[in-house]
Amino acid sequence: MTALVYSEEYKNHNTGNHPENQKRLDVIVNSLKNEGIWDKIDVIKPSIASEDDILRVHTEKHVKYIKNLCESGGGYIDYDTFASPQSYEIAKLAAGGAIKAVDLVINNDINAYSIARPPGHHATRDKAMGFCLFNNLAISLEYLRNKYKIKKFLILDFDVHYGNGTAEIFYEDPDVLYISIHQNPGTIFPGSGFVHEKGAGNGEGYNLNIPMAPGSTTDDYIYMLETILGPVASKFNADFYFLDVGFDGHVDDPLSSLALTDDFYEYAVNKMKYFTESMALILEGGYNLDVLSRCNIKMINALNNINSEEYYKHELKVKDSNQNTFNQIKDVFSPFFEF
Ligand SMILES: [Zn+2]
Repeated sequence: MTALVYSEEYKNHNTGNHPENQKRLDVIVNSLKNEGIWDKIDVIKPSIASEDDILRVHTEKHVKYIKNLCESGGGYIDYDTFASPQSYEIAKLAAGGAIKAVDLVINNDINAYSIARPPGHHATRDKAMGFCLFNNLAISLEYLRNKYKIKKFLILDFDVHYGNGTAEIFYEDPDVLYISIHQNPGTIFPGSGFVHEKGAGNGEGYNLNIPMAPGSTTDDYIYMLETILGPVASKFNADFYFLDVGFDGHVDDPLSSLALTDDFYEYAVNKMKYFTESMALILEGGYNLDVLSRCNIKMINALNNINSEEYYKHELKVKDSNQNTFNQIKDVFSPFFEF
């Protein structure tokens, strides 16, 4: 079973005509209602994350900066990251949504999906960027560590952009295996997320980037995840699994140059289900409203085992450049994992 964590209040992070706006969540919710899924599923309201929860991840300076900016009317933090007067409260609510989701996973042994905004995976300890104010996933992970003493975490992030914030926060942490599959950062924001960025100190080997060539298809993604995620996740043997969700790698998304199809989102969930019966899903990006409504339903149906086919067992067509990336990953990570 799956529970959703959602609040109408997310609309109060008012970004106007920015691509990351409330319509994204409205289409997700409306399509779930139209398909009759909304009434059959538990929809839980989040609470605001406490200051203690947020300060396990972010610096006091950063939290104060967002608070003060919002209290003085809000504005642009950088070229593309915006805060409105209520964004500080709503960013804390989005972090609380991730916390609620991980609580549901732990206490009820179900999948729980936080459908929230602003997104989080670009936010570093001391900086808002890439539409993100606080790192929702990282805050919920530290909450799990603090409250339930959970030790080992695996994050699979398939948003089209590298989650540089999440990566940086756990870069020296051997208990958090962050695997990000994203468009080659030489061709897209945030410009980092190459194979050689493999973690540091004790965390060396636990930051695994899979940069994909522009134009990569569902076949390319399946090939990479089949050859990399399986052996790595089995060896790491996490106690808790996060799926960090972004729909912006879809062929119809306006912000990227990949060619993923609707099927990918079903596949990604099914792949994670090899490793765990219950996981937390955290929404990040996705900017084509039709894609958001369709692919989100596909993903939730896969979570609930509805219409889930093993359609991907055909011969995969893989780009040579992605094959080369796989070989590079194999080389760089051979001291840590066997492929
Ligand atoms: Zn993204």
